[in-house]
Amino acid sequence: VNRQRHAQRIERAEAEAAAQGFDAVVASPSPDLAYLTGYDPGLLERPTFLVLRPDREPLLLVPELERPLATSRMADDVVAIRGWRDGTDPYAEAAASLPSRGRIAVTDRMWSSHLLELQAVLPEISFHPASPVIGRLRARKDPDELDALRRAAAAADRTYEDLCGLAFRGRTEIEIAADLARLLVEHGHTRADFTIVGAGPNGASPHHDPGERRVEEGDAVVLDFGGELDGYFSDTTRTVVAGEPSTELVRIHALVHHAQGAAVDAVRPGAVAQDIDRIARAIIEEGGEGERFIHRTGHGIGREVHEPPYIVEGNPVPLEPGMVFSVEPGVYLAGRFGVRIEDIVAVTDEGVETLNRSSRDLAVVG
Ligand code: ZN
Ligand code: ZN
Ligand code: ZN
Repeated sequence: VNRQRHAQRIERAEAEAAAQGFDAVVASPSPDLAYLTGYDPGLLERPTFLVLRPDREPLLLVPELERPLATSRMADDVVAIRGWRDGTDPYAEAAASLPSRGRIAVTDRMWSSHLLELQAVLPEISFHPASPVIGRLRARKDPDELDALRRAAAAADRTYEDLCGLAFRGRTEIEIAADLARLLVEHGHTRADFTIVGAGPNGASPHHDPGERRVEEGDAVVLDFGGELDGYFSDTTRTVVAGEPSTELVRIHALVHHAQGAAVDAVRPGAVAQDIDRIARAIIEEGGEGERFIHRTGHGIGREVHEPPYIVEGNPVPLEPGMVFSVEPGVYLAGRFGVRIEDIVAVTDEGVETLNRSSRDLAVVG
């Protein structure tokens, strides 16, 4: 338990909530709760609520049977912990600790079953998602978080380098995905989280679910994988080729490579999130493939694989030091192949730090 860190995060969340006109913040078990308090109990059907109000001490309302665990995981001098017993009404108890009118921000991951009950006992309150408050804080990583993200990225890079030494041709996507999962853990992840292997035409589906297709001579293979390390995620994509690449694959790969590199180079404090997307998109449009770049350029990453800031048209958020996100343009040719290249980058005081360091060139695999 790092008491000082969590006390600071709670203070900042309260200040940000007040600045945005909220009378309270309610967080249930979620990455938000873990970020604010260090307590990460998983999803529970019995409600757990962290209540933050600018004029009160922070309060965690937990099921009585969870109280010993919560107490051991949290600095109880930072947050007062109160248990509620089965057979009593936890929503009425939460309402007693909340304002009866005004605006409350609730964590985006709160179960609707809990939120609907809160709405019923607090009819004068308007409820809003807490991501503009807590997501904004979580977007700027502190040094410990950056360190975990660096280690996760380095472990993903070593996973990729090892994978390139294994056989691809004749093996199924599922078999290669199993290698990815094993290597992610071997290189230090607590667990693998996702392992996309899209061979040949399957690579044209950005979130392809690995199947029984075997890698054939000349196939492009999109590899997009990540895992959790000390509560933080890796997420990287490389596209490899089994044997000789076609001239079309070489051309598309060079185009995506160019777009990805230019977008990464544009990252610095004060640059605007949507401008990073525009830079990648302009290069791919100029290469004649704009219609085939069918997703945003990137997403923030931290305690969740996808979190703010989103690198997408329409997001005017200025980049700030400590923000960490993916830069992952792709081009998808339906029925033929796909190419995507993805790195996690961090905004520094002067510019950008690329957390993934493995080669982005079109690797020829066996
Ligand atoms: Zn994705
Ligand atoms: Zn990815
Ligand atoms: Zn990603």
